[in-house]
Order: sequence, then structure tokens, then C-alpha cells
Amino acid sequence: MRKHFETEILHEEKKRERKFSSKVTPIYQTSAFTFKDLDDLEGFYQGNGSYLYSRTGNPNTDELGEAVARLEGAPAGVAASSGLAAILAGILAVVKNGDHIVAADDLYGGSYHMLEKELNDFGIETSFVSFTDQTQVENAIKENTKLLYTESISNPLLRVEDIEGVVQIAKKHGLITLVDNTFATPYHCRPYLMGVDLVVHSATKYIGGHSDVISGVLTGREDIVAQAKTKVVNLGTNVSPFEAWLTVRGLKTLALRMRAQSSNARKLAEALSQNKFIEKVYYPFDKDAEGYSAMVTIQLSKKVDIQQFFRSLSWIKIAPTLAGVETTVSHPLMTSHRELPQEVAEALGITKEVVRISVGIEHAEDIIAQFEQAVEKSL
Ligand SMILES: *Cc1c(COP(=O)(O)O)cnc(C)c1O
Repeated sequence: MRKHFETEILHEEKKRERKFSSKVTPIYQTSAFTFKDLDDLEGFYQGNGSYLYSRTGNPNTDELGEAVARLEGAPAGVAASSGLAAILAGILAVVKNGDHIVAADDLYGGSYHMLEKELNDFGIETSFVSFTDQTQVENAIKENTKLLYTESISNPLLRVEDIEGVVQIAKKHGLITLVDNTFATPYHCRPYLMGVDLVVHSATKYIGGHSDVISGVLTGREDIVAQAKTKVVNLGTNVSPFEAWLTVRGLKTLALRMRAQSSNARKLAEALSQNKFIEKVYYPFDKDAEGYSAMVTIQLSKKVDIQQFFRSLSWIKIAPTLAGVETTVSHPLMTSHRELPQEVAEALGITKEVVRISVGIEHAEDIIAQFEQAVEKSL
């Protein structure tokens, strides 16, 4: 019998051969997967590697988790809908109601709010301490502490964490470690290989690299990542297949981008340290690692008019994000750190003269010239 129009639209008679050898993984933009028969369905539950439903697993999201894990040298990885979703999955895989976390007091603002407000409301308490002084970290550890949480490079002043020191404290007290490696990327730093249990990324930043996607990845110990995967599934914080695909596409050029961006960052930091209207340049550099990242933070002299400075950066735009291929600037005190009490911000060194630069892949001389003329025009 000939199908009706409504049916014909959906079900073509001729089954298309699906085994094309496409060069890149196709986008499996599908909510669910189909099965030939009940044996085929049972095969999924027996772990034959097929897929059921895209919240519980999808080839594109799995590809992202596995790709980042491979680069971190970790045995397992899981992708999530954002960096924060990946951090949440990692935390909830380790702590529950009644447990305690010791976290760095200079964590990314969004992570800070998640711990300080949302998780606190669910009975998960966090002490925020300065990780520059590791006796403070040890002193904050309590009976119910489960997790030490810090960042390999902090925002916006680019403090480089003593990861080995943190791992030592964790080992001594039987704690799990979580390190946010977003700023450094596995190109510069691989915390898992230094003994850290969980390494997390806002893949929105360097992993994706093109400012066109929000996603996150948690990598690390197989048993904990398996728990975290369950959290992503049960909380519905999975990343969409298309976003995962875009992130994987970006990831392929991570080494090229980091090499170019870090080299530009170094040249910019060197040039700006010569400028007498720039009080301080924050750019951690290690000659073995060829830098630590492509972020440079500067503190302008009080002689520079900040408004005018930002206006004078013609093609360098103000953006509340980082790590794209275009150079951008941000004003931490007005964005990421605006909720900090003034004394706290001052004490941390985050004043209104502080400008964070995410260095892109343009020519170094053009980037340097932009900043120098902007300083010049703002005196
Ligand atoms: C951006 C960022 C996050 C949050 O990631 P989202 O993808 O925005 O959820 C976490 N940590 C660091 C260091 C970040 O820069």
C-alpha cells in the first residue's frame, strides 16, 4: 500500500546505507537512537558501545570528553553543558550534604557563587582560603573535609598554583583534589600527571577557542569521572551534540593557537613592562613551559584615564570572556569581581586600574601598537 503523504515525509522506502567514511565525526543531532530488535536493545544494556538517548550519551559529547582526557593524560573524561556544569559534576561526585570543601579564595567568580550560595543551600560548606599560604589550607581542613579545589592559574592576577604542594596536603589528609585548568590548558600544564584527581575546563575558553560555544569537560580518575557522568545524566547538564562538535573542532588547533597566543602574550608583556605608564604587568613565565598561558594582566598608572584607554583600543573589544582567537580586554572590577567588597578587592590587588588582556593570534606588533597608542591617548 502506498503511504500517505504524512507518512511518506518521515519514512523513506529505500533505506540509505549509513556507513559513509566521513573524515570528521558527523554531528549526531538526535535525541535518541533506534534499535533493530530487542536483542539489539539488550546489547546496549550489556555495554556493546551503542547509544540510547542523547542525555545519557551521544557520540559527539563522548568524543569531546575523551579528547580532552587524552590531552590531560587522564584515563576518563565527561563533557557537560558549561564549565560550571563540569565543575558541579566533579564536586557532586565527591561530596554530599554535610561534607566540607576547602577552596582557593581567588576562584573564578561563577565557581565561587556556586559554592558559596547554591551548594551551601544544600548543606555543602566551603571555606575559602588563600592557597598562596599552604599552612592556611591545612588549617582549614576539618573532620568532614572531602575536597581541595583550586585553579592552576588564577583570574585576573595570574597566580600560578603550587600544584605539587596542594597534592601533598591532599595525600596527607586523604582528600580529593580538583584543579580548574582553564587558563593554562593541557598545552602548558597537566595537573593530572602531577597527582591531581580531577581536572576541569571551561571548554568555552581555550579548548573551544573561537568564542562560539559554551561547554565544559571534567577529566581525571576513572572511578570519580564515572560518578560525575551519572551526575551529568541525572541532573540533565549534558552538552548538546552540536556544541560538543563545535568544541571538538576548535580543540584540533589548540596547540597552534596556544603557541601563537602565548608567544604574542610574552611579547606584549615584555613591551608593556617598558611603558612607564603601566605600573605592573602580570605574566607568569616559565622557560621550560614556554609561558603559562596567553593571558596578560596590567595595572595602569593613575595618570591614565581608564575610560579613555578602553575607548582608544579600536579593534580590541571589551568582552567578559577570554581565550578567543581575537585579542580582547576585560575590566575585572566591573565584571567578574564587581561583587567583591572594595577592601577585599583592594587587598587582592584588583583595583580599577587593572585590565585583563586575552591575547589573540593577530600579529604581535599590531597588538602592542594598539595598547601603546591607547595609553598615549589617555594621558
Ligand atoms: C569561564 C570560566 C569558568 C566557567 O565556565 P562556563 O563555561 O562559563 O560555565 C570556570 N572557571 C574558569 C577559570 C573560567 O574562566
